[in-house]
Amino acid sequence: MEKTKLSLDDPFFNDIYDVEEGIPVFKYFLNGEWKKSNDRSKIVSPIDNNVIAYISRPELSEVEKAIENMYSKGKWKIRDMPGDVRLKIIEKIADILEKHQDVVIDSLVINAGKTYNSAKGEVLATIERLRKSPLDLRKIVGDLIPGDWSSEALETEALIRREPYGISLIIIPFNYPLFDSANKITYTILPGNAIILKPPSSDPIPSLFLLKMAIEAGLPKESIALITLPGKHMSKVVSNSKIGIINLTGSTETGIEVMKEAGIKQFIMELGGGDPAIVLGDADISWAAKRISLAITSYSGQRCDSIKLILAEDKIYEQLKNEIVNELSKVKVGDPRDKGVDMGPLIDKSSADQWEEGVKDAMAKGCKILFGGKRINDTFIEPALIECDRDKVKELVAYKEEIFSSIAIITKFSDLNQAIELSNDRRYGLDASIFGNDVNKIRKLVRLLEVGAIYINDMPKHGINYYPFGGRKDSGIGREGIGYSIEQVTAMKSIVYNYKGKGVWDYI
Ligand code: NAP
Repeated sequence: MEKTKLSLDDPFFNDIYDVEEGIPVFKYFLNGEWKKSNDRSKIVSPIDNNVIAYISRPELSEVEKAIENMYSKGKWKIRDMPGDVRLKIIEKIADILEKHQDVVIDSLVINAGKTYNSAKGEVLATIERLRKSPLDLRKIVGDLIPGDWSSEALETEALIRREPYGISLIIIPFNYPLFDSANKITYTILPGNAIILKPPSSDPIPSLFLLKMAIEAGLPKESIALITLPGKHMSKVVSNSKIGIINLTGSTETGIEVMKEAGIKQFIMELGGGDPAIVLGDADISWAAKRISLAITSYSGQRCDSIKLILAEDKIYEQLKNEIVNELSKVKVGDPRDKGVDMGPLIDKSSADQWEEGVKDAMAKGCKILFGGKRINDTFIEPALIECDRDKVKELVAYKEEIFSSIAIITKFSDLNQAIELSNDRRYGLDASIFGNDVNKIRKLVRLLEVGAIYINDMPKHGINYYPFGGRKDSGIGREGIGYSIEQVTAMKSIVYNYKGKGVWDYI
């Protein structure tokens, strides 16, 4: 196929880049303007390592000045706008995205290496999520607490308000650059916070497109910024005391670093995962195999909710493993621009290096490759299904750490407690999936698994966040969920009214 190239066919996006020697140079958005600079990052496509764009980067001093301005003016601009107007703006972003989706889909294929279907799926999910924003509003409510039940509070009452924190720094991972940007912007803007969006360095273009659409939809320019600094240059930004919320989706290591640097702030941390699937003896094996195979290979395993550990009850183990191998053998790996391809590249060479080390480590510890496990080139791999004795599993790097690509360990158990122990002993606690019908076993798992979400008879899938999800342990703090995240971006304020009247005092 020809060299990768971004589609620049849609004039709607013209003002966010200039073309220099045939390559677009994108701008950042600060202090209400799109700006170009000579300090630039090179953006390559993971499909063929071809340079597809440059991204201008701001000076740190410019970012700090913009935060000052946002704190003194921008945060009031969005907060004082009627909520109804903010809602209409979010709905308008959905309309604009619907109209300009072709270029955005193309950017997800070329910049993120997604297959056409995954890219289209991300765009449709984003539109649906934006359109579901009225459901978030139901949670922006308060309480009225009567003082009657405490002698010290008699003849008082309190109103508990929820109000915006001010400025939220939103840090986006590479795997859902469009959806995550739109989702976090939606629930942060709706109650009236200003935002600073920090896209991922490897595939920032879908987030840039989204910001352009948000501005065109009417978000006040003073209340919104997009900074293209690399994560490793962000320390002065995350520690800035004018920022009230840090909302990060990324790896556990990044989360730990950001929390150390930021000091005391409101945190939403959606961090590393990689999920176990527990398959019980009475499960529908063909269905389980299909869904597990998809959960291993979807976006090349670069999903926080990808299945990394398969725990099968011994009586169905052989059948399950053969059926998963059969399903994996149907997955076509290749250039994601080819619409027949199911699995494209990893985001970069270092991800493939990490995957290769994980496979080698499992081999060195006596495990066996049941399927795939070969590296094709710098960024393309075959999905790896690795069989391992149960007593060896905890030694594997793929068990101890999140390898963010298509690799899954399969082992068997005879007693449910063995599956629970292997699931819970990982440092992560994002989701789990259970396949089976025995309600008593399922209930035991539901009670004892230390995770934020459990999917029964399906693969874990966060989708449009219709149901809330989020991590326990090293998988994070807080929940992403329509109508749930909004509680984390609004601060509670108690207003206590003292009426000083006689009233109930007469009864004491
Ligand atoms: P990452 O390397 O941790 O980066 C995530 C974001 O953090 C990027 O924008 C990155 O910027 C930025 N960053 C890195 N270091 C920073 C620092 N010191 N200060 C401020 N920002 C910093 O993660 P990724 O590889 O993009 O994404 C994959 C990870 O996200 C996986 O661990 C996955 O499980 C997790 N994830 C979790 C969920 C969930 O719901 N729990 C959902 C999706 C993904 P640069 O790109 O410039 O380095």
